[in-house]
Amino acid sequence: MMIRDAKQYIESLRDGREVYMYGERVEDVTTHPSLRKAIDHGALDYELQKKSELRDLLIIRSPTTGAQIRRYFQIPRDSEDLLKRQELIETTTRHSGAVIPFMKEIGTDALNALAVITYLVDKKYGTNYYERVQKYREYLAENDLTIAGAVTDAKGDRSLRPHEQHMPYYYLKVVDRNTEGVVVKGCKLHTTSAPIANEVIVLPTRAMTEKDKDYCIAFGIPVNTPGIKIISRAEPANLGSFDHPLSSRHVTLEAMTIFENVFVPEERIFLDGEWEFAGPLANLFATWHRFTGICYKYPFAELMIGAAALVSDCNGILHATHIREKITELIIYAVCIKTFGQEAARQCVISENGIAFPNPLLCNVGKYLFANNYHMAMKLLQEIAGGLVVTAPTEADCKNPATKEFIERYLGGRKGVDATTRMKVMKLIRDIGASGFAGEWYVGTLHGEGSIQAQRISIFRDFDVQKCVTYVKDLLGIP
Ligand SMILES: Cc1cc2nc3c(=O)[nH]c(=O)nc-3n(C[C@H](O)[C@H](O)[C@H](O)COP(=O)(O)OP(=O)(O)OC[C@H]3O[C@@H](n4cnc5c(N)ncnc54)[C@H](O)[C@@H]3O)c2cc1C
Repeated sequence: MMIRDAKQYIESLRDGREVYMYGERVEDVTTHPSLRKAIDHGALDYELQKKSELRDLLIIRSPTTGAQIRRYFQIPRDSEDLLKRQELIETTTRHSGAVIPFMKEIGTDALNALAVITYLVDKKYGTNYYERVQKYREYLAENDLTIAGAVTDAKGDRSLRPHEQHMPYYYLKVVDRNTEGVVVKGCKLHTTSAPIANEVIVLPTRAMTEKDKDYCIAFGIPVNTPGIKIISRAEPANLGSFDHPLSSRHVTLEAMTIFENVFVPEERIFLDGEWEFAGPLANLFATWHRFTGICYKYPFAELMIGAAALVSDCNGILHATHIREKITELIIYAVCIKTFGQEAARQCVISENGIAFPNPLLCNVGKYLFANNYHMAMKLLQEIAGGLVVTAPTEADCKNPATKEFIERYLGGRKGVDATTRMKVMKLIRDIGASGFAGEWYVGTLHGEGSIQAQRISIFRDFDVQKCVTYVKDLLGIP
């Protein structure tokens, strides 16, 4: 195989997968209008390599076969590799309407975490998981496949461990095994791109005890494997691009991914019962995935800055002091995000088997900063833009001869800014800050890549508080 294009990717999704949406089984995801919107967005990732200026960033040579593969599959060995990954995700997102395509990012976050942890498991137990992960990586790279990452379980009572739940499958569980593999049952939630990916990588979502052994399972299989049932979240189709400039074209889809007695062949199992490694694997995946979050949030922050400056200009107030201050706040927000990503790459950690991963503390602080301040940043944009963001007439009104004249007469901005231009900017701000799509982003930013409380916990764990206590004690002469 080779680097695929959009057509080949889309064609590969006609594979009998079991996807449900709006109460119906979807026979062909490529012809369903809601799913097709997400597919076309994801497919942008399969066309970018045709831009000659991006090719060196997107495509590398496989170190094992010499074939051309996507950089996503590169095993990072140092800071430079991580900085390239940051540039890759940031650039891809910028070329996709500031909405990350999520074709390979989460899957390779999972592969990268597995590559570090399986080495340690093999060392302790003499298993050969690392080799399996590497073979799987090569298979995915050679076939240029799209991968979803299914980590978050249903979890039921959050205060209880998997084996303590009153429902035995609130966490994905191994229910049968034979010499050829295992059978799993359970459900992963919020799985981004699951309805439109080729493969799904499953990881445990939390630390486990010996009694949770049967829940400690990691693997990677095709999305059309018998027994996998996917229920997609709702997504409105056929939105006009004038009224919904981003959400009419650039969306990702999350879904319930149900494993109803699904067989996983042995060569695709990457962890099976080694419960003490579930926590480290979940944590390292979180580090990788938060790094991805930082990388793709920066272009979105740039979009907010651009929209804020443009709408202020349309309204003739770009030079007002308080507007400049607010745009400056947005710039600080954006620069913090970018800097934490770069520093996490520069201050990377090298694993025992020579794999570079981004600095966990800096990834957690970076993700926390962008998520915790996102609503504040959007509030600044809303404050700058004014009420027309939510009260503007629709494209149909702009075209209706009975209303067109009035819209053109009254909704223009400063001299030189006509109503259409001003409305375009207002509609963008509505789309990202005050629509259903925007609401999903508010929640997605808080909980995607792990809830902000998870970052607080990790930050406290990774920061040397005792060192600070000793400093204060020394200062005060306290023994
Ligand atoms: C848009 C979006 C995309 C996503 N994509 C993916 C994906 O591709 N793959 C994937 O695997 N996951 C994905 N997720 C899942 C995401 O990682 C989770 O939403 C997140 O980890 C929170 O889990 P939860 O939604 O079950 O909420 P909960 O865990 O129920 O959290 C809700 C609140 O409860 C608190 N809480 C939870 N447990 C406890 C406890 N024991 N004690 C005290 N407080 C607790 C949390 O801190 C939080 O404040 C996605 C989520 C979103 C919103």
